[in-house]
Amino acid sequence: MIWLTFISLLVLYVLYHKYGWRHPLFLQSQKKILLVIAHPDDEVMFFGPTLCAIKRLKIPLKVLCLSNGNADAMGKIREIELKASLENLGISDFSLVNDTSIQDGFVSWDPALISSYIHKYSLGVSSILTFDDYGISGHPNHISLNHGLVLFLKQNTKIKGYSLKSISLIRKFTFVIDIIPTILLNMLNSDVSTITASFTEYFRVRNSMLLHQSQMLWFRHFYIMLSRYMLINDWEEVQ
Ligand SMILES: [Zn+2]
Repeated sequence: MIWLTFISLLVLYVLYHKYGWRHPLFLQSQKKILLVIAHPDDEVMFFGPTLCAIKRLKIPLKVLCLSNGNADAMGKIREIELKASLENLGISDFSLVNDTSIQDGFVSWDPALISSYIHKYSLGVSSILTFDDYGISGHPNHISLNHGLVLFLKQNTKIKGYSLKSISLIRKFTFVIDIIPTILLNMLNSDVSTITASFTEYFRVRNSMLLHQSQMLWFRHFYIMLSRYMLINDWEEVQ
């Protein structure tokens, strides 16, 4: 019975990925997308399905990482791991900022400084993606990116911004099961755009995650197996 349920969920997921709202409106007719992350590994822990969709749609993409994740004095290693992870996903256009004012840690970053870095790297960009105001894990560095983007958009009205929607902790670790609440909630809220990864893309994201070797503590293996962010991303426009 459990196997039958699991297989049914997989079939539902595959059908949604194939025939559901695969390519949300905000990904269509984009000139170039800028994804702003706080730490090496954010790109695969949270944004993997979106990065795969952007590659699938052949949209020019730049990834901007605003710290080298030096909280445990492993910044240089994590820089190398980020490059390897992005290369595995087919992404070569990325920049990493290592500013002493915005280092990896459980503190808020200055939104004005973040906005200035977004400005610096947004040439030719039509949309900017980053975390929402909860930052998926509640990490203040992630939340600060949202505040920096909001500030940037106030001064740059021709560029659009989108934030990755945070969901409850229970839903976060239900992997493919989360396709059910995702579909139901999308029926109620048409402002949310959902992107799913194919299973091939899931394994590509998983492999990128494994390339962040210095971060692969035991619980990260469970994260890969259980997190819905490995399969599903929801986006909302930043107003
Ligand atoms: Zn992070």
